[in-house]
Amino acid sequence: MSDGTHTPRVFSGIQPSGGLTLGNYLGAIKRFVDMQDSGIETIYCMVDLHAITVWQDPDKLRHATRELCAGFIASGLDPEKSILFNQSQVAEHTQLAWIFNCVARMGWMKRMTQFKDKAGKNAENASLGLFGYPALMAADILVYHATHVPVGEDQKQHLELTRDIAIKFNNDFGVDFFPVTEPVIEGAATRVMSLRDGSKKMSKSDPSDMSRINLTDDADTIARKIRKAKTDPDPLPDSLEGLKDRPEARNLVNIYAALADTTPEAVIADHAGQQFGTFKPSLADLAVAKMAPITGEMERLMKDKGEIDRVLKDGADRARAIAAPILQKTYQIVGMVGAKR
Ligand code: ATP
Ligand code: MG
Repeated sequence: MSDGTHTPRVFSGIQPSGGLTLGNYLGAIKRFVDMQDSGIETIYCMVDLHAITVWQDPDKLRHATRELCAGFIASGLDPEKSILFNQSQVAEHTQLAWIFNCVARMGWMKRMTQFKDKAGKNAENASLGLFGYPALMAADILVYHATHVPVGEDQKQHLELTRDIAIKFNNDFGVDFFPVTEPVIEGAATRVMSLRDGSKKMSKSDPSDMSRINLTDDADTIARKIRKAKTDPDPLPDSLEGLKDRPEARNLVNIYAALADTTPEAVIADHAGQQFGTFKPSLADLAVAKMAPITGEMERLMKDKGEIDRVLKDGADRARAIAAPILQKTYQIVGMVGAKR
């Protein structure tokens, strides 16, 4: 619990901006499942409104949203235990985001590194939505009074902004209404790096398919991508310090540890002195053993789109039941005539 007054509740989201990657699985979805199974109330969202901050083909967006839902379920999220839905179907997210647009300061938003990374050199041509994204993300979380948010390391800054927005809102209006949310950034692979460039994170929107492992890749593709992953010519060292300036090697060790549910230290202890010619095939076997059942289940679930749409609708109804009174109370605090008690 963040401040002692809010019941623990978990929220997190993933964008249907492409297919799920191993980074999304290890950094986020695996944690989502752990939290669901720990008995806390869990709400997981396909954040389609975030996805359109960069161009998305409408048919591909529909497909990616359903596939993301299938990926959640195939990874162990149970639509009865967790609330699974797509963001656009609960209008309270965007309604609260407007309030937060008026709470967040330009100076705060301008510091966000994700905007700088994604807008690149042509920031003038980026959408206003891409710039405002973190205020919508704060609304996604706070419209449920969520106290804990499992994410990968790259989302840390956005969660700090979410905390700043909650604190400023509470101070401005003299209330203790929004919780100060705790990021949950855990596991051996909180930042899985690109297989082609150890300085860049693995992303579903990276133009290079070889940079990532997709949850839909078959065994041969996974093995080929790992075999071709960029590394250096040295064998694995006998301690973690030996990986300090070897980001690509460190990445493969972290991935191995996260897939095997162990620590990078333990992986190094088991594989010290190995050449990548030996380590990479072991990693590929492990990745295939862990991912193939999920890939197979996703494929099966995608055959019944009606059932996926039913899960999403049911989730949206349950999510709205929590979000609507919190939005109305926010409107009341802010001074909107007509806000329901
Ligand atoms: P995009 O490239 O469109 O931003 P993405 O792969 O970064 O896609 P998001 O939907 O932005 O995926 O993020 C979903 C979740 O996955 C977040 O919690 C994020 O921190 C986590 N995540 C994304 N990439 C990685 C990664 N490489 N390693 C660990 N976690 C990651
Ligand atoms: Mg991202």
